[in-house]
Amino acid sequence: MPLQPPTIYALASGRPPAAIAIVRVSGPQVPQVLERLCGRLPQPRTATLVTLTSPGTGPIDQAVALWFPAPHSATGEDVAEFQLHGGRAVIAALFAALEKIDGLRPAEPGEFTRRAFENGKLDLTEAEGLDDLIHADTDRQRRQALRHLQGLLGHRAESWRAQIIEAMALIEAGIDFSDEGDVSTELMAPALARVASLRTEIEETLAASAQSERLREGLQVAIAGPPNAGKSTLLNRLARREAAIVSPHAGTTRDIIEVHLDLDGYPVTLIDTAGLRDASDPVEQEGVRRARARAEAADLVLWLDEAESNATPLAGEVPLWRVRNKIDLAGKVGASTGGSDPAFAISAVTGEGVDQLVAALVGFASDYFGGGEAALVSRARHRVLLTETVAALKRAEDRAGQGDEIVAEELRIAIHAVGRLLGRVDVEEILDSIFREFCIGK
Ligand code: GDP
Repeated sequence: MPLQPPTIYALASGRPPAAIAIVRVSGPQVPQVLERLCGRLPQPRTATLVTLTSPGTGPIDQAVALWFPAPHSATGEDVAEFQLHGGRAVIAALFAALEKIDGLRPAEPGEFTRRAFENGKLDLTEAEGLDDLIHADTDRQRRQALRHLQGLLGHRAESWRAQIIEAMALIEAGIDFSDEGDVSTELMAPALARVASLRTEIEETLAASAQSERLREGLQVAIAGPPNAGKSTLLNRLARREAAIVSPHAGTTRDIIEVHLDLDGYPVTLIDTAGLRDASDPVEQEGVRRARARAEAADLVLWLDEAESNATPLAGEVPLWRVRNKIDLAGKVGASTGGSDPAFAISAVTGEGVDQLVAALVGFASDYFGGGEAALVSRARHRVLLTETVAALKRAEDRAGQGDEIVAEELRIAIHAVGRLLGRVDVEEILDSIFREFCIGK
């Protein structure tokens, strides 16, 4: 008899205290858990009011219990869901009761989704979509994640995989019949035509991947400029605009502070590269180097300066907008002449001109994302595997003259790459690293 997987449990709802907490349990012992805590098995898939009771300890809470018998559940296993009052002690008492049952253990991050994946409830792109949906900050991110969860990329990749397998089957049939004259060439031509059109289709899907990845991660806008230009002040002002802010969080490094904005549904990560100045101390120099690298890798740089200047602030190809700050002081700083016109004139302190800057940022984001729905390839993992697929298909086409076996081998590499995209052939560590990113209880 195969070894039974452990039955796992976790808080699936947000941080307590809250009105309601949802605790999920998944695994073969779920019926036993329900009988023990509710006194009986509730009707499958029917909300049932129960008094949760820990044998020997007494009542825990009045709760709603749900039972989803396998395989018709989110994980494909027997699943119980308890909706109880969301107090810390209530949840702790239920956890204590669950802990006492042999064979149960708390779930690891992403473990419910991993079981769903392993039981064929979702493919890997759908699981990633689920994680993105939970972490979506803006409406456009939500829509992109939902498309993944609904399997748009997964279904397309399944169809690509099936078509490559068909092409390979034609070629292998050719190999089998190769001693019967030119059957092989007759089969090779349609197989290669199919490979070529498929490759074009995947290339088209890949073409828009940069936008989709950015939609997932946020458009990177760096605020740079000399010390005291007002970079932090501007960042704080933008972060305080209630409509704009999603989740300010203090920097990933000492020198770089990030703020995530929701600009009209477009996720924008503002980066304050406060460390961008000439430094003598080696630690500071390292900070400057990082800040500069970050600004140069951004999609847009806002170059903030008090006065107009002709300085070429950063090397590289990044579009750069000059923003003249501290216009409230105009006259006091002495308007310099001869500088290039700044694109924007603002006061980070009074807020003057900041609305125009934000409107321009929304316009930039809308141009960047093309205004419409983004494409399907939203992660580097998807991009890398589909690029491998395209390369293998191309090699199959190019090497057609070198023999059927060589073409078949390239197609096998392509099938493998698409299979990895779907999580069909992935090795354990890759699955581990993907599911570890999930929340506990998911
Ligand atoms: P950073 O080094 O570029 O991050 O500059 P800070 O944001 O720390 O600002 C440096 C100084 O300039 C602070 O004292 C700010 O209060 C001041 N400052 C920033 N923006 C403005 C502005 O628009 N008008 C005025 N009058 N002062 C400003």
